[in-house]
Amino acid sequence: MEETLFEELKRYVGWSEADEEALRSLHGVASPRFPDIAEVFYATILSHEGAKQSLTGGESQVGHLKITLQQWLDRLLRGPWDEVYYEARCRIGRYHVRINLPQHYMFGAMNVVRRELNGIVDDAYAADRGRLALARRAVGRILDLELAIMLHTFREDLLAQQARVERLSTFGQLVGSIGHDLRNPLGVIETSVFILRGRMGEDERVKKHLDRIGEQLGVANGIITNLLDMIRNKPLVKERVKLDAVLAGAADSIERPPAIAVVVEDVAGLEVDGDPVQLRQVFVNLVGNAVDAAGPAGEVRVRGGSADGVVTVVVEDTGPGVDPATARRLFEPLITTKDKGIGLGLALVKRIVERHGGTVAYEARESGGARFTVRFPT
Ligand code: ADP
Repeated sequence: MEETLFEELKRYVGWSEADEEALRSLHGVASPRFPDIAEVFYATILSHEGAKQSLTGGESQVGHLKITLQQWLDRLLRGPWDEVYYEARCRIGRYHVRINLPQHYMFGAMNVVRRELNGIVDDAYAADRGRLALARRAVGRILDLELAIMLHTFREDLLAQQARVERLSTFGQLVGSIGHDLRNPLGVIETSVFILRGRMGEDERVKKHLDRIGEQLGVANGIITNLLDMIRNKPLVKERVKLDAVLAGAADSIERPPAIAVVVEDVAGLEVDGDPVQLRQVFVNLVGNAVDAAGPAGEVRVRGGSADGVVTVVVEDTGPGVDPATARRLFEPLITTKDKGIGLGLALVKRIVERHGGTVAYEARESGGARFTVRFPT
């Protein structure tokens, strides 16, 4: 069987059974010290203004990350160092790309772990030089492996991200010119429909078809507006926006089957600084998707909240949730699973929310269905 990348990396650092044994026995000695290591680790990051910038979530995020780091240390010394381990570690590298963590900070951070673990080894095995040497070698090897994995996934993901950016810029130019060119013929059709309406007489069927044309013109114009909004940086006209009115308006504007309930709750008094038209668009898209997903019967819930200077709006539904393949690229343009979808809704949501200084995230609901959480700074 072909050697996996992880096996190759292990071979490269000289990984052996002896290392595994040494780490497992070090785990017993080191695990009570994991909380201390997490403290030192984040104190080091927070003391450096560049590295600190990657921690955008403030105090509560650091609290959470300290716990994650302890779990990371636990697995680091406990193993098993198998393909599942490798996959889990790869996800960390990808996460670093997502939060734009500059690669060079990883070395410093890994060195903190190295120094702390070596300190523990030196204290614990001072009386047994052979064991001390083995443990230090194992710590060195596993941390080299960690770095190799992170650099590898970081590079792969960064390349993929660059390819996406290139694709998007070509896409932007294309969309811009097609969008503009389509506006003219649509305008001509609109004028002609208007003139025909004035002369159509009493024929109900003619009226019905003219209505249809008018309706579809609206849809086509809407798509073009969305496309052009995507690629243009339309200036934000900011004002104090009451979210309850925006949310109620957005929820009401969505056509839905009678057996789908849309509940809007806990939104009274919520305000953000922003462009009311664009904010409405965010929730029209999210609630529209939720109604689509909830199927012929189900529930869509829009829930507001506010804490620590952040206004949150959660949109969730009782549908099937986003399938994993779509979820990975959910907020990219042109990702759609719908027959008549064009996959711009969520890309636009992300763009608008980010231009308001906020974030939007997806997670699967515990009880099934999708949950989108939008956060705005206040
Ligand atoms: P479109 O609605 O045109 O497909 P979007 O960008 O709004 O474009 O959505 C992209 C895809 O994300 C959808 O096609 C669907 O597969 C998935 N999606 C979005 N919202 C939900 C949801 N609430 N539940 C399940 N899947 C969703």
